Amino acid sequence: MRRTIGDDVDDFIWNLRWRGHQIIQQRVEKYGIACDLKHGHLHAAYKPAHMVGLRKDYDEAVHRGMGDEVSLLDRSQVRDLLQSDLYHGAIKNTRNMHLHPLNLCIGEARAAESLGALIFENSEVLEIIHGSTPGVRTAHGHIDANQVLLAGDVYHKLEPGKLKGKIFPAMGGIVTTAPLGDLAKQINPEDLAVYDCRFVLDYYRLTADGRLLFGGGANYSGKDSRDIAAELRPCIEQTFPALKGVAIDYQWSCAMGIVINRIPQLGKLSDNVWYCQGYSGHGIATTHIMGEIMGRAITGQLEQFDTFAACQHIRVPMGDLLGNPMLAAGMWYYQMLERLR
Ligand SMILES: Cc1cc2nc3c(=O)[nH]c(=O)nc-3n(C[C@H](O)[C@H](O)[C@H](O)COP(=O)(O)OP(=O)(O)OC[C@H]3O[C@@H](n4cnc5c(N)ncnc54)[C@H](O)[C@@H]3O)c2cc1C
Repeated sequence: MRRTIGDDVDDFIWNLRWRGHQIIQQRVEKYGIACDLKHGHLHAAYKPAHMVGLRKDYDEAVHRGMGDEVSLLDRSQVRDLLQSDLYHGAIKNTRNMHLHPLNLCIGEARAAESLGALIFENSEVLEIIHGSTPGVRTAHGHIDANQVLLAGDVYHKLEPGKLKGKIFPAMGGIVTTAPLGDLAKQINPEDLAVYDCRFVLDYYRLTADGRLLFGGGANYSGKDSRDIAAELRPCIEQTFPALKGVAIDYQWSCAMGIVINRIPQLGKLSDNVWYCQGYSGHGIATTHIMGEIMGRAITGQLEQFDTFAACQHIRVPMGDLLGNPMLAAGMWYYQMLERLR
């Protein structure tokens, strides 16, 4: 993005990155959304070399006035927060939050309906109609609109002429254990959300009913996952030996929309048809930022939209065929580099 906005990019991105947190927090308060919103993250060093990057992030946060909200922890301080010997250190960040994303989504949908929005579920859009009165066509009907915003992320196949080969699915698996009772407080007494510094990382938090929700091992083939519980159990047991043999009650996998340069993609498909997609596995806060930018753009304030829309994105020819193998090869290469460090 430096190419499009120059040296101001650092301030632009730093300020923007917290906007999603503000929007979520304000909405949760305003509409009373019960989504277990809590503060507290640990970004943990899986290898000693990861401490270099964490120290840099910590210094930047302090430099930008977050000294009260971040702390750089060594191995033994992490051990006080997690019953795990896995990590070499961490940043604890109390501005960052974690939440139950489906309940946030349902709460926001209800809030939107209370303001007059109409939501039609199970109505797949089969075609977008361009023109002075744009619209969408579904199997059983159509909607005429003033403006159309396509926000289906990696799941839609619409507008292939302009969008095919720009975003690729990486499959992520998640499990939740059985309720852990008192053990939950022992393994993670401050109820922090935790993720490590690897390219293909593990991430976890406790649920409101005291289960461990654990995600990891993204698969870049674009194909649905295998036995997720069998794959993630060793990671859980390696992280928390106290959970050896724990029952796993639920497992699921879904696609994340990966963009090669990791910058969300937004733009126009025609005069009054817009799109916005590609959060590379970090969409909860980012969709709120981009939602605001798109809302402003559609009502005529184009400054932030133009900044993102000007970013160049790599488009892979024959994306269906080549996109995921290329992504898998790229991830393999970076994982190899990481192992050598
Ligand atoms: C396993 C996993 C773990 C993740 N963990 C995190 C995390 O810890 N933190 C984080 O910030 N992000 C995380 N993400 C990423 C986050 O979930 C996504 O970035 C985010 O959901 C993207 O939001 P979206 O609204 O753009 O798209 P989506 O949430 O994918 O919503 C798109 C919607 O469009 C609908 N749709 C698609 N095509 C059509 C059509 N033709 N007609 C009508 N509707 C259509 C879909 O049914 C879907 O409901 C994770 C993702 C996965 C898969």
